[in-house]
Amino acid sequence: MTELIRHWIAGKFDDATPQRTGEVFDPATGKATKHVAFASESDVDAVVVRAAEALKTWRHTSLARRSNVLFAFRELLNQRKSELAEIITAEHGKVVSDAAGEVQRGLENVEYACGIPNLLKGGFSQNASTSVDVHSVRQPVGVVGVISPFNFPAMVPLWFVPGAIACGNTVVLKPSEKDPSAANFIAQLWQEAGLPDGVFNVVHGDKVAVDALLAHPTVKAVSFVGSTPVARYVYETGTSNGKRVQALGGAKNHMVVLPDADLDLAADAAVSAGFGSAGERCMAISAVVAVDPVGDELVAKIADRMAKLSVGDGRRNCDMGPLVTAAHRDRVTSYVAAGVSAGAELVVDGRGVRVDGASDGFWLGPTLFDRVRTDMSIYTDEIFGPVLSVLRVPDYEAAIGVLNNNPYGNGTAIFTENGGAARQYCEEVEVGMVGVNVPIPVPVSYYSFGGWKDSLFGDAHAYGPDGIQFYTRTKVVTTRWPDPSHGGVNLGFPQNR
Ligand code: NAD
Repeated sequence: MTELIRHWIAGKFDDATPQRTGEVFDPATGKATKHVAFASESDVDAVVVRAAEALKTWRHTSLARRSNVLFAFRELLNQRKSELAEIITAEHGKVVSDAAGEVQRGLENVEYACGIPNLLKGGFSQNASTSVDVHSVRQPVGVVGVISPFNFPAMVPLWFVPGAIACGNTVVLKPSEKDPSAANFIAQLWQEAGLPDGVFNVVHGDKVAVDALLAHPTVKAVSFVGSTPVARYVYETGTSNGKRVQALGGAKNHMVVLPDADLDLAADAAVSAGFGSAGERCMAISAVVAVDPVGDELVAKIADRMAKLSVGDGRRNCDMGPLVTAAHRDRVTSYVAAGVSAGAELVVDGRGVRVDGASDGFWLGPTLFDRVRTDMSIYTDEIFGPVLSVLRVPDYEAAIGVLNNNPYGNGTAIFTENGGAARQYCEEVEVGMVGVNVPIPVPVSYYSFGGWKDSLFGDAHAYGPDGIQFYTRTKVVTTRWPDPSHGGVNLGFPQNR
């Protein structure tokens, strides 16, 4: 039997034998290397109870102490980021430098949370009425559930957990069962940083664990990231159970290339953003919208660059690793066949790619389609793999029409040297995160991350100012200290004088 990845409950690994487990693979070798506990409903209940106990103290812990823990966690994560990157690569498959990049982006969210004393400052109004002062405070919501996807096993938990903890909440993280080890590594760093036991917990599993968190009355808020159908389900179930929910879903990110764009810059960007992490990024570019007459030249430049990409084991010096599981690789490959039969032009075929890695790895090479139409499944569906589609349109109006008719609205980019056109695009496009000559416009930590339309359910975006708001409730206190001028009983509605 392979090593068992266990739940992390109140500062310890759970030593019970789980009733159900799942296999965890090394995608570059295709071998099952570990197995992971799948929590039952009662396992989730036991974790939530511990998180609720820890909340009693943590919510009253001083801001100075909380920020000390966050600074210590930041230092430890920074020191040990290459170890974490290797853990990610061993279960996700992305190349180690890319895994290090996701840890770095996660660190930014820890740094933002280090400023919690400043972020939680409320307002104060002296003499709102004569001798009456008013102030507002932000208080924690309680026990928070975080449910994360496979594609960023460190960064997505780090989008949410530092902010939630900094605000005085306690957290139960349910990471993806495909690459669960990063969460346990992070849990141990929190403990080493001095976080009291029970403030951060990890429960592993599948839908059973998610449903138990969504149903548990003690869980007051849920941050979810994953595919759109599951995000919609989590949002609807969680909110109908009275919880605050932010559920970030899938994407179809378009890159518009206008005729005046620098085509070398655009081709570099399309290849980097299309095939980085084998296209398994929610901000990956999967559709290039080429505005006439750039199509022929742009496609040729993209294909040239793709020919130079190396595919292989992420621990070696390759550009692109395998897909996360055999089932996912097969699903993505089936889209390549669907694109061909729908009549799209297959310019580069990633099936049968030569790899620097084991033959049983979950491989699919970079794939490029040209002359893709909006009714083809390679366009309508989120493929989440190394498949890039080029759509050709006659003008800017047609390009913005394609974008705004798409149900997703996560990220987009426009490539142009015309500031006026870029400005118009930023104003008109119905997408939450826009890049101008920047292909993957993931907001820095002091803004918030989130898409529109079917890419996000709920009102709050992730991390940054929206995160602080999501993890706190506002209270407004109106105060009058007894003074000689009080006026006796008055049944009228209070008016400010
Ligand atoms: P997924 O929806 O399959 O799983 C996400 C989480 O939900 C996992 O923890 C999983 O265990 C759980 N889950 C899966 N099916 C469930 C069900 N039926 N009921 C309850 N819980 C369930 O997503 P994934 O394949 O792990 O991740 C890839 C998806 O995540 C892509 O669609 C990608 O676009 C999206 N994503 C979005 C963002 C964003 O910020 N919008 C970021 C990263 C990933």
